[in-house]
Amino acid sequence: MTPYEISSSLLENNSSRVLAGSVEVRNSNDRTILRAVAERVLPKRAQVEDIELDGGIIPNKHWLQSALTRLEISKGDTCFCAMYPHSEFYDLEKEQASHNLSTELRERILKTWSTDHISHCKNCGQCFEVPRESGWHVSWRKWSELEVP
Ligand SMILES: [Zn+2]
Repeated sequence: MTPYEISSSLLENNSSRVLAGSVEVRNSNDRTILRAVAERVLPKRAQVEDIELDGGIIPNKHWLQSALTRLEISKGDTCFCAMYPHSEFYDLEKEQASHNLSTELRERILKTWSTDHISHCKNCGQCFEVPRESGWHVSWRKWSELEVP
């Protein structure tokens, strides 16, 4: 999608279009694209947030809010990894596949099937501790920033 298409779908009063736009923003690391979207969308933020979005276990508002936060971040120089602690639904495997992160498996606890990872942002070097948690048939990750000595 072009920045124009993404911002148009976010500005539409149509929940599935707004969600599609949110996903595009979430998956993009291109500051040029995101800044162009931010320029059109953020001044109308209140209007965008006013839309009724439902959702299942994960409320759809979550995707919209995380897209809007990402647009805010894109305006400055803050690394996009600052987003991770804001959303439990960033997928570690996906982020690695897009070469945003490198991860070391710290510990696999076979008894509980839980895994514990330390991830490094390839862009700025920030480290995260990323345990997997689950419940209600979904699993998510709790991202917390780690101080590196
Ligand atoms: Zn980073």
